Amino acid sequence: MTGNAVRVQAVQNIVNRKPMPIKTPEPLSNLWASDVFTLAKMKESLPKEIFKSVKKTIEAGAELDVSIADVVALAMKDWALTKGALYYAHVFYPLTNATAEKHDSFISMQSDGSVISEFSGKVLVQGEPDGSSFPNGGIRSTFEARGYTAWDVTSPAYIMTTDNGATLCIPTVFVSWTGEALDKKTPLLRANAAMNKAAQRVLSLLGHTDIAPVNSSCGAEQEYFLVDANFVNSRPDLLLSGRTLFGASAAKGQQFDDHYFGAIPERIQVFMQDVEEQLYRLGIPAKTRHNEVAPGQFEIAPFFESANVATDHQQLLMTVLKNTAKKHGLVCLLHEKPFKGINGSGKHVNWSVGNATQGNLLDPGHTPHSNTQFLLFCGAVIRGVHKFGPLLRAAIASASNDHRLGANEAPPAIISVYLGSQLDNVFEQISNGKITGSLNAGVMDLGINTLPVFNKDAGDRNRTSPFAFTGNRFEFRAVGSGQSVAGPLVVMNTMLADSLNWVADTLESKLATGSELDSAILNTLKELIDEHGAVVFSGNGYSAEWHKMAVEERGLANLKTAADAIPVLKEPYVEKLFHELGVLSPVELASRFEIYAEQYILAIEVEAKLVISMAKTGIYPAATQYLSNLSSALNSLKAAGVELSNRPITQIAGLVTAMMTEVDKLADAVARHDFSTIEEHMQFCAKTIRPLMDEIRRYADLLEGEIADELWPYPTYQEMLFIK
Ligand code: ADP
Ligand code: MG
Repeated sequence: MTGNAVRVQAVQNIVNRKPMPIKTPEPLSNLWASDVFTLAKMKESLPKEIFKSVKKTIEAGAELDVSIADVVALAMKDWALTKGALYYAHVFYPLTNATAEKHDSFISMQSDGSVISEFSGKVLVQGEPDGSSFPNGGIRSTFEARGYTAWDVTSPAYIMTTDNGATLCIPTVFVSWTGEALDKKTPLLRANAAMNKAAQRVLSLLGHTDIAPVNSSCGAEQEYFLVDANFVNSRPDLLLSGRTLFGASAAKGQQFDDHYFGAIPERIQVFMQDVEEQLYRLGIPAKTRHNEVAPGQFEIAPFFESANVATDHQQLLMTVLKNTAKKHGLVCLLHEKPFKGINGSGKHVNWSVGNATQGNLLDPGHTPHSNTQFLLFCGAVIRGVHKFGPLLRAAIASASNDHRLGANEAPPAIISVYLGSQLDNVFEQISNGKITGSLNAGVMDLGINTLPVFNKDAGDRNRTSPFAFTGNRFEFRAVGSGQSVAGPLVVMNTMLADSLNWVADTLESKLATGSELDSAILNTLKELIDEHGAVVFSGNGYSAEWHKMAVEERGLANLKTAADAIPVLKEPYVEKLFHELGVLSPVELASRFEIYAEQYILAIEVEAKLVISMAKTGIYPAATQYLSNLSSALNSLKAAGVELSNRPITQIAGLVTAMMTEVDKLADAVARHDFSTIEEHMQFCAKTIRPLMDEIRRYADLLEGEIADELWPYPTYQEMLFIK
């Protein structure tokens, strides 16, 4: 085994590590939601009337009766104490992708010096963390630091247990002293409410009289990488930016397709079981786990839940993945592209809308052509994606997701909709003005008697589409692995609200002029698909032809970088959308632009600084040391009468010189701060800083292939991806 001392030590540590014990999992019935203050637990511990009132708020969206808070707080505290909690925390979701929490003890001092545990309705309902250190995008100056958290009763409280103890966690919204949303949950709840209102209008027009509140659902598939912590600790780039800024490809990557769905290695399976057990305790329905395409890449997908709860659970899931990885001597990378040359990680956000009375409103049934209700909701989504595609792109824009989108494995940055052949055909019929029937999916007969004959799905999968209909929901696949799902869900629900309102307005005006309901629906759908069908695309989304056709013939936007996409938040039509539907005020929207733009710039600056320091302090010294060793060796050989070519020396020296020239340029570029607008600064990051970083990497990766392995300072791709 070769490698420098640090790398050899890392491998030794891994080889000698004691494996985590394999535990027999507890039965699901013991685990399930044992750390959650569920409705069932409330029912046991609350007076009947109070329980009914809470249930009504949670299930039917009725207004929260604050007077019950004291009683709920008491029950919640008593339960938390039985779980060993000494502290409680208001958990909130600031405008980073992180989860924030402020911990307070239950302790209350008595006049005689003794203490009791206390938790009142007042502190359950409202908290006041100092908000000044969270990004606010100019909503407040730092001296007006007040920020409030407010209890979201619709997302259950839970106990978070770490080795340091247990804490009662209460999901909350986070708003400023002036009432502006400083978080990701508030707009999600508002967007959901706007969508519900619009959906109710459409359902009433279709003749329904019993209509339960319409909610959106979300099931998020999470991809991630696991790397041994011993390697990460000696890679400043992974440690600080979450991705490798240098590293030549290993001889073997994913070209054998031998990792996807392969047998899960034992160490990883033990990790996964540990994660799942915690998720089950937290009431998070983990359902699917498998190896992903790239070596060292995996996926976990919980069963879907209501969008608000699923979003909180998704945040929690990312926390559990990271914390548990640490315990197992691993690091969980949620970056969208930790390694060059192999697949990156995304998060597929499966999304639908429905309610208790009409069911899943995006379920076509077996004969979608006759399911006009489905067609109206599906059409409304199509219209939304067409009108607000650039906004969907902006909602997933980040410095890290730019490395994945449009690379030949992930959806392109052009947002189009895939429907599948059956629905394509139905909408084509609508456009022609006459609906005749649905193409039959047919049965799949495998021709082997012992195997079942099963019904084929009516539409195939299309992995190249960023926004695909998948049977009874849409799947937004361009979301980044490290991102909160709240942003995409806000946009999807808001654009749907806008479209459903358009559907309702159009139907109403047609009905008012004497149209029959059926023909009003058909004509509305025809108008819709004629106007917005350009966004529907079933072909290969990776192809160059599509990129050309999408932009030139269909008029779709191709916002290649986050620097191009984030400014969409400033467009008047976007401001109007959010403002009219009460999801984000113009001030709240403007603050989001500021924050996301700033985060983009900061992320790239951090990476650029790392590139400079790693090139100067790690790669340059290794290369010069090798050159010096090599020239002494060649000289001694020459003295002994063996003359070797000095071509390697000139070649390596050339690479080192070229690399350092680019490093100087990058240092100058990073020092520049005289930009007239933040947009200009973002473009500078995208068009000048990034390419310089890539150039430096190109030389460094070539050097990695030239100099002696024992001198190379950083764990290699081969080590990080294949040694566990
Ligand atoms: P695939 O890899 O085929 O896309 P998975 O089974 O890994 O599918 O994940 C599909 C996800 O979609 C799961 O989280 C599932 O619960 C979710 N899902 C299923 N139905 C709905 C729905 N109506 N609304 C939202 N998500 C859904
Ligand atoms: Mg999927």
